[in-house]
Amino acid sequence: MTLVTTKKLLLDAQKNKYAIGAFNVENMEMVQAVVMAAEELQSPVILQTTPSTVKYADLDYFYANVKTAADKAKVSVALHLDHGNSFELAMRALRVGYTSIMIDGSHESFEDNIKLTQSVVEACHPSGVCVEAELGKVGGKEDDLDGGDNNPYTDPMQAVEFVERTGVDSLAVAIGTAHGVYKGIPKLDLERLAQIKEVVSIPLVLHGTSGVPDDVVQQCIQKGICKVNYATDLRIAFSKGVKEFLNKNPEAIDPKKYNAQGREEVKKYVMNKIKVCGSHGKDKSTLL
Ligand SMILES: [Zn+2]
Repeated sequence: MTLVTTKKLLLDAQKNKYAIGAFNVENMEMVQAVVMAAEELQSPVILQTTPSTVKYADLDYFYANVKTAADKAKVSVALHLDHGNSFELAMRALRVGYTSIMIDGSHESFEDNIKLTQSVVEACHPSGVCVEAELGKVGGKEDDLDGGDNNPYTDPMQAVEFVERTGVDSLAVAIGTAHGVYKGIPKLDLERLAQIKEVVSIPLVLHGTSGVPDDVVQQCIQKGICKVNYATDLRIAFSKGVKEFLNKNPEAIDPKKYNAQGREEVKKYVMNKIKVCGSHGKDKSTLL
């Protein structure tokens, strides 16, 4: 297989009421872990990188990693820019070969968010690359972007106007999730999600899912979420594997040894979340 766009993946998920897991990767081992997990469960999968990740190693490093994994994989793999924070970064990702791009104008005014999103949609659609936008503010910290204390949830009627005017392919909604580690169990506004789904026809995206109980994630999927983002927990899983190995083997000097254990932990975590999303057995790569 080669890299695919998220268009058909998300529409099939929407039609059949499951979600595609979108997993943030930080290095080669995490890329391998996510793709191995998806293959083992016959699931389509999205790998994504944030601006801070592509600052650490540029877009082309991650593209090369994920493209290589996708070429070898027997399932559909898409590469998505998560929280693209400028038109310029979105265009660089498009040129490098990312097959899906988020432009996050949620910190802008409603009108400026529309303008920014429109410009990215216009640039991406001729190449068949899908665009995700965000309306309302997901709390917490994604990268260096602080949601702040004032986190308005997505307004359903604004969402209708936003989708119509931008032509965006999927929409991240703010319904009470936050990025990072939760202090307690988050309370989500499922009623609002149902209202948004009622009036907006494109696939909806849940951000800040690490730490949200699995049954709540599944309720969100039933109410219209088609893409579920997991980031923080993959970092935790990778670090756990590495730390356990180094605690047991303090003399270890071979990164292959401890990174392999990090990779294993991420793979286990991702397999579990693919099942939560219900995308196992759903790969249709031969039909795409
Ligand atoms: Zn996010």
